[in-house]
Amino acid sequence: MLSILRSLVQEVNSARDLQEALDIIVSRVQKAMNTEVCSVYLLDPATNRYILMATEGLYRKAVGQVSLGYSEGLVGLVGSREEPINLEDAPSHPRYRYFPETGEERFRSFLGVPIIHHRRVLGVLVVQQRESSRCFDEGEEAFLVTVSAQLAGVIAHSEATGAISGLSLTGEEARDVSFNGVPGAPGVAIGTGVVVYPAADLDVVPEKPTEDIEGELKLFKAAVKAVREDIERVAKRLASQLRPEEQALFDVYLRMLGDEALPGEVANKIADGTWAQGALKQVVQQYVRHFEMMDDHYLQERAVDIRDLGRRLLSHLQEGEQKHLVYPERTVLVSEELTPAMLGEVPKGQLVGLVSVKGSSNSHVAILARAMGVPTVMGLVDIPVNQLDGKELVVDGFEGQIFASPSQDLRAFYQAICDEEDELIRGLEALRDKPCETTDGHRVSLLVNTGLMTDVVRSLSHGAEGIGLYRTEVPFMIKDRFPSEQEQREYYREQLEAFAPNPVTMRTLDIGGDKALTYFPINEENPFLGWRGIRVTLDHPEIFLVQVRAMLKASEGLNNLQIMLPMISNISEVEESLHLIYRVYHEVREEGYDIHMPKVGVMVEIPAAVYQIRELADRVDFLSVGSNDLTQYLLAVDRNNPRVAQLYHSYHPAVLQALVRIAQDAHAVGKPVGICGELAGDPGGALLLMAMGYDSLSMNAASLPKVKSVIRSISREWAIQLLEDVLLLDSPHVIKSCVDLALRNAGFGRYLRPGRSSSMAFSEQAVS
Ligand code: PEP
Ligand code: MG
Repeated sequence: MLSILRSLVQEVNSARDLQEALDIIVSRVQKAMNTEVCSVYLLDPATNRYILMATEGLYRKAVGQVSLGYSEGLVGLVGSREEPINLEDAPSHPRYRYFPETGEERFRSFLGVPIIHHRRVLGVLVVQQRESSRCFDEGEEAFLVTVSAQLAGVIAHSEATGAISGLSLTGEEARDVSFNGVPGAPGVAIGTGVVVYPAADLDVVPEKPTEDIEGELKLFKAAVKAVREDIERVAKRLASQLRPEEQALFDVYLRMLGDEALPGEVANKIADGTWAQGALKQVVQQYVRHFEMMDDHYLQERAVDIRDLGRRLLSHLQEGEQKHLVYPERTVLVSEELTPAMLGEVPKGQLVGLVSVKGSSNSHVAILARAMGVPTVMGLVDIPVNQLDGKELVVDGFEGQIFASPSQDLRAFYQAICDEEDELIRGLEALRDKPCETTDGHRVSLLVNTGLMTDVVRSLSHGAEGIGLYRTEVPFMIKDRFPSEQEQREYYREQLEAFAPNPVTMRTLDIGGDKALTYFPINEENPFLGWRGIRVTLDHPEIFLVQVRAMLKASEGLNNLQIMLPMISNISEVEESLHLIYRVYHEVREEGYDIHMPKVGVMVEIPAAVYQIRELADRVDFLSVGSNDLTQYLLAVDRNNPRVAQLYHSYHPAVLQALVRIAQDAHAVGKPVGICGELAGDPGGALLLMAMGYDSLSMNAASLPKVKSVIRSISREWAIQLLEDVLLLDSPHVIKSCVDLALRNAGFGRYLRPGRSSSMAFSEQAVS
């Protein structure tokens, strides 16, 4: 069973389009279950009807012609009940509907299972049999359910591919279909998609036509020649160490590179107008499928060789190619997994939007995007990324959705939102030098989170009163080795100088989790619960000591440095860190630097710390809540995983109760407490935090003017009442709605989502 399923999934995965995928499904399932009919009905989002999309056993001419209303017939029943229905005598069921076009009256037994992807019913898979004596048994039912569960993702993906090309299920024109992910950074962008991908990964090579067939052929021939030479060189080098049968492997490779084999097929595809990388991808994937489906284990293994060869050819083809990448004036960067380095490649001023398949709203790349003010959608899991290259895209970072090749109306609608946002931001500039104070005189410090120098420039122009969190890992991430003490000192000095005499809070290196350094890989099963933050740097005092030394030296003459420790889960981590910081402080002074001992604080981002606030506060000068991780760890929801993104909620009552407790306990022992997670930059979140008594709110520069304008317009008393009201509620969604409503009533509806009500009309046909 498992092998049938495996080869079915492989075949479907490699289908060219949705129709081919569905035809494969019905024909293979019909055979595997030895039944007379297998059909698939898909729910068309445009009409909300189930359309017969493929069949084996019913009349073919009915395909695309027969459709049922959302709750019509047995198919509708399976879809609305979201569970299998297994009937021995279907025509006697009250919900049975008869379509003469299908020839269906001859069939009696019916087994239908829903095809569900991320809670959305995509369609129904049906098998039927003529004699009533055949009742599909439990094993068959389980098989069909397994097939359907395995294929749901593939079907959703193919459906989305069609929708990107502007086609509905039935092949008719369908414009302005939205693809839904998770909001990454607010704002709207309209621009041209540029698909970026990690080098030498065939799976992510985009489909692109070429007009320069000769040029592409030349490139490909050069790549083949280079790979041949590589292999011959390696074979020669290893000749004395290998037995003849092992050496034969290289001959296999070289034979595969012969003109008649793989290169010939790739050249044909290029001659048909596909660019070299895309042609290579198609041919290699065909070979790999072919080998993987073979029963002979030895031949199955050849798939690995082909893939390896493909990767080698691709890396030669890509040499220099990324360098020539021309970024359009308004670039929307699209990738399977965006990295901070990819963002850095786009020339200044040309990056308008970001789209990532992986990751969620609190992934670090989303935080970086918010800091840069670039509208972003994350977690677009079913989008066929490769199709987006060169397409005009609308990125709606408020709602977490994108549109490809928008109609004029949709484009104009979003352009109006962009203009409205620009106007709003310009209007807020006037607040720059005004204090962040409520109407009844309660003052809160508004600080910024930084990582890059560009953040500092933006922060200053937005009126920040200091840095609440400098993520020192950002300069570490954009290098290919650990930065030296001198290099670090220069980075840190820039930040300290820009804000002096205001405080600059530098967090010691917080790598691990989703923050990887290419030159210091950490491979773990469960990285967020593993070696991360202070755990890494205490195990590597040489990294910690150099970093603290660079910070202290950089602070000479400015004395506005504060040091903050990430991922603290127990007191001994604080004590060990303090010991190292004191040691460096004395050493640096002995070297003749005129520095002051900086204030030292800890981040409260692990639930254990919430229950030891007093003990922690006794040992340090300040506390700062990392609500991104605190939410993740309290709710046991990976902040990066789009599948559980809807469970990640900083307005969850448990999170709010923890935040209240932290502020109370810190103040009870007389220590200041701030917050530097993303909640602080959310206007509603900022109000609640201010009401809880947080002394400072640290956020990305782009959010700062909005938060300031909201806080300056209300009284603390009003905010405390709102906090008291929401603390009585038990659902994060209700709490969020309640806070949004309060903001709307206070006149800040446009901070939530400009023009929201009218945009809904365009979102109805959401695809994923
Ligand atoms: C946090 O966890 O809230 C935080 C500010 O740190 P980071 O997002 O860098 O993990
Ligand atoms: Mg954190």
